[in-house]
Amino acid sequence: MKIAFIGLGNMGGGMAANLVKAGHDVRAFDLSDAALTAAKAAGCTTFTAAAEACAEAEAVVSMLPNGAIVKSVYESDVIGTAPAGAVLLDCSTIDVATAKDVIKKAEAAGYAMVDAPVSGGIAAANGGTLTFMVGGSEPAFTRAEPVLAAMGKAVIHAGDAGAGQTAKICNNMLLAITMIGTAEAMTMAQKLGLDPQKFYEISSQSSGYNWSLNAYTPMPGVGVESPADKDYQGGFATALMLKDLRLAMEASGNVDATTVLGAKAAQIYEEFAKENGNLDFSAIIKTL
Ligand code: NAD
Repeated sequence: MKIAFIGLGNMGGGMAANLVKAGHDVRAFDLSDAALTAAKAAGCTTFTAAAEACAEAEAVVSMLPNGAIVKSVYESDVIGTAPAGAVLLDCSTIDVATAKDVIKKAEAAGYAMVDAPVSGGIAAANGGTLTFMVGGSEPAFTRAEPVLAAMGKAVIHAGDAGAGQTAKICNNMLLAITMIGTAEAMTMAQKLGLDPQKFYEISSQSSGYNWSLNAYTPMPGVGVESPADKDYQGGFATALMLKDLRLAMEASGNVDATTVLGAKAAQIYEEFAKENGNLDFSAIIKTL
């Protein structure tokens, strides 16, 4: 299948390479020469304009930094340029309102389109083990599914247009809250004189059980191996968690949802990211 791929950064580079490995003819475009050189080495055909990459595409995949860029790329270079009948897949993490708006415009021009943000970081993008949460119509999902399956381990239809982005930001807001809560409980247990490993053994098998404690323990040398054991390098960067929390707060405001803990978590990560944006988000425990 001829697939245009726009945005070959940390995530998109590995994803495009996996489409090549699955036998697709991948037509790559990025503003960065370094990204294009790497894409060429991975077997993609490279182009110097997004519109050229899209010209004969049966599918278009994008992995871009934010909603404003996604909107501009689709409106200028994809919609009306990709052949009629192409399926469009935006895998970037962006705001729900822009995701819905771009899909509406694509559908009005006769395309099938989904929002398909991912769970999993650079290692999962390279390894082809991402989880995709997909928003869009049933027919659009049916067409997008095999393309996404070549880049991930799970592809889940979340609902209508924008539902993928909604699932992503609600999940990551919950993750931020559980990480801060886990860090507070572990640190408080330690200050009260309880061995943190004993606390982990007890709470991970009790009602305190949660992913941040059980699968991503934020204290070095305690529980499972995690970025805490590598001085908080790698993993999920604080800056990216903050990006998702800002999107969550924007969406929460738009629908008047009560997100007291989400807002507090966003405030805590806003402060922490000023000096520590590159550290894994579990490093929040260092502030306690
Ligand atoms: P990145 O900055 O490494 O890559 C973005 C790429 O887009 C860059 O190569 C940049 O040159 C290119 N680009 C920017 N504007 C462009 C344009 N107009 N046309 C063509 N290319 C353009 O970012 P990333 O880490 O790969 O993240 C991409 C998306 O994936 C973001 O929305 C991010 O929130 C999401 N995401 C990232 C991670 C992660 O761990 N990095 C995890 C989950 C989701």
